[in-house]
Amino acid sequence: MTRAGNFQPRYPLYKDKGDEMEIRWVVNTLFGSCTYAIMTGKSAWLVDCGDVDEILQLLHGPVCGVLLTHTHFDHIYGLNRLLELYPEVPIFTNEAGKEGLLSDKLNLSRYHEDPFVLNSPENIRVIEDGQQVELFEGVNVQAVFTPGHSPSCVTWMTDDAIFTGDSYIPGVKTVTIFPHAEKHLAAQSEATIRRLALSRHIYPGHAPQMDNNEII
Ligand SMILES: [Zn+2]
Repeated sequence: MTRAGNFQPRYPLYKDKGDEMEIRWVVNTLFGSCTYAIMTGKSAWLVDCGDVDEILQLLHGPVCGVLLTHTHFDHIYGLNRLLELYPEVPIFTNEAGKEGLLSDKLNLSRYHEDPFVLNSPENIRVIEDGQQVELFEGVNVQAVFTPGHSPSCVTWMTDDAIFTGDSYIPGVKTVTIFPHAEKHLAAQSEATIRRLALSRHIYPGHAPQMDNNEII
């Protein structure tokens, strides 16, 4: 059962670029992480990847690619299932994220009931800080590295929207208890995101009402 909590409305319609683009999401069964779909009437990009079958039901067409906010396993556990359905899908992350996708120790799933390692490393696209990715014709998303919660943290922003992962969840203190987390970097990243978010709609990595100790 997917948890929606108080994160209502569950599937809000966020219009962008006129009526051409919308953003929908599911709150995943695992730790209430969020998977977003940035979609047009024809195709979609995902931000993170949890309960795949549930998010795919919301789409009007195929998945073009995945943008990862970081590679803790509650944000990536659906990727192998997604790649069974869309084997060519590129997965965008940074160098640390690539390592996390390929190591159940780094992505913290090793001691979980269902350890995760990405089956097909060839789908990974390593991006640099500031790099743009074209989602749809005339619509780009920019990668902003926001380390602290994890070195794999990338915040993704369009003209109107910002996907913050676990680097900034409104009302929730950024979690820095895991290996490779760095508190001072998390504070810097949060300041950066707050500035960028002033003119953008925020889409965080977990429903904002989640209990702090449930965030991975
Ligand atoms: Zn996390």
